[in-house]
Amino acid sequence: MKFLPNKVFGFLCVLCVLCGESLCFCLDREAFSITNYDLNLQIEPEQHRLGARGKITLRNDTATPQKIAVLQISSSLDWRSIRASDKMLQFVRQPYTSDIDHTGALSEAIVTLPQEVAPKSTVDLEIGYEGVILLDATRLTRIGTPEDVAKNSDWDRIDEDFTGVRGAGYVAWYPIATESANLSEGESLFEVLSRWKVRQSGSTIKIQFAVTGSYYPAMPQTLFDGLMCPVTSFESMGSIQHVVSDCVSQRLGFDTPTVLIADYQVVEQPELEVRYLQGHGAAANKFADSAKVAFPLVREWFGTARERAKIADLPYSDAGPYESGVLLLTPLSTSDPKLSGLAAAHQLTHASLLSFRPWIEEGLAHFAQALYLEQQKGRQSALDYMGFHRTALAQTEATTTALDSEQEKSRSLVNTVSEELYRSKAMCVWWMLRDMIGDAALQKAIAAYKPEDDKDPSYMQRLIAAQSTRDLQWFFDDWVYHDRGLPDFKVESAFAAKTPTNSFMLTITLDNLGTAGAEVPVSIKLAKGEITKRIEVRAKGKTTVRVETPASPQEIRVNDGSVPESNPGNNVFTVEPPKN
Ligand SMILES: [Zn+2]
Repeated sequence: MKFLPNKVFGFLCVLCVLCGESLCFCLDREAFSITNYDLNLQIEPEQHRLGARGKITLRNDTATPQKIAVLQISSSLDWRSIRASDKMLQFVRQPYTSDIDHTGALSEAIVTLPQEVAPKSTVDLEIGYEGVILLDATRLTRIGTPEDVAKNSDWDRIDEDFTGVRGAGYVAWYPIATESANLSEGESLFEVLSRWKVRQSGSTIKIQFAVTGSYYPAMPQTLFDGLMCPVTSFESMGSIQHVVSDCVSQRLGFDTPTVLIADYQVVEQPELEVRYLQGHGAAANKFADSAKVAFPLVREWFGTARERAKIADLPYSDAGPYESGVLLLTPLSTSDPKLSGLAAAHQLTHASLLSFRPWIEEGLAHFAQALYLEQQKGRQSALDYMGFHRTALAQTEATTTALDSEQEKSRSLVNTVSEELYRSKAMCVWWMLRDMIGDAALQKAIAAYKPEDDKDPSYMQRLIAAQSTRDLQWFFDDWVYHDRGLPDFKVESAFAAKTPTNSFMLTITLDNLGTAGAEVPVSIKLAKGEITKRIEVRAKGKTTVRVETPASPQEIRVNDGSVPESNPGNNVFTVEPPKN
């Protein structure tokens, strides 16, 4: 389960004065994880208000007993009470700057526990907090993001017509316990958030939502992680309605607990449901139709779905799409119908295949998009699509020549927290594996994957090895277990000679100047026609192959774009005509 880079946690020493004595203690904000949430949330959309009461369970994740716990919520919320076994606990409230919340800060409670909690032991706390959740993009605008871009990214809010609030990483609407994340420091937010998600992955969350407002006749529904929460009670007082619904998250793991309260209509299909807002029915139907095309392909590659993929509409036409597990939030009114098949392929893959390793979970969902495009429009279309990702990847990998062995490991696909790597690079890696071992073998390996058996990073390699006789240790070493950068192919030489039977023997020596090996397609243009060979060249290595061609070879072109490469500018070679 541990696949985060080693990181020295920052400890903050707080100087305080207590009973006339001054003492110094060090706060380890990540000492406790929260293993269980059982919350009652009162939401008044017209007032943008949220009030929470409930119980949480804290577990000491350190090797030493702990007497102080840190609990954090969004800075727009306030702590009201913290109790243990019916006794009020003393706590210090303070603001804490962190970009894990859209406001760029958290309301922190530094709680003195009734007694020390031993390592791995737990303590139950009853908590209360309340406040408002308004549109707020402070964390982005303060680092220079233009206001409209920032608001389209951080669109979360509780509002009269629509409530959409994503969890940690957007809005800390439930308590968390993390070190500060800083968007202006490289991957700090991803690292803090990934550590939190790993600690949270075995946790359970149960929430009762009570929504009060004047809605009649358009009663809103409450959705939690894309699932409709069943209504357990309903009261109407004049124009005011009070609706209570109970929700349980199906998969806390790497998903972000997300609350939606809106008047949704729904288009349902066996594999997917699309919830849309008023006036967006046509767009929702188009989405569902293009998703139908992707169903058989996703089933063929990733098996029968465990659950339905869930698409939910956003009312803000410029809002950036957002995905968490099987749920995709996107403004249907402006989403390009041409892209809905692609989006559906991605979400349907999540609904079929579950992995806590991002390079498998997200990498395969992006790979499914490339497969979908190939099926719809041919291989070139898939390669063009991957081309967008390759450009981002080449920039990310530009610095990798200077990586030391520790960095090679922390940036590897099995450890990385960088989206470019676990999305774009992983997609290319899956595509290369498929080109090397074939569809059937890779499909069987994927079908054999069971997240509960995925106990070490080489598990997937072993599943693939069981389906193919080919030795791929070098490939996994260069692409999956280490970040060795990218290959750089170059034809060192090529000679053609006429054979006695009037065909041609072409001898090609292919160089790989880069630091990662790969098998690359090489196409040979002939006086008439073209033939393609796949050639494996290890990092900093050369391979010489002889190819018999029916007509005179004229030009060699290395790499159709299926292998990410640091310098594709030296990939064409003109073959001299044979002397005789
Ligand atoms: Zn995804």
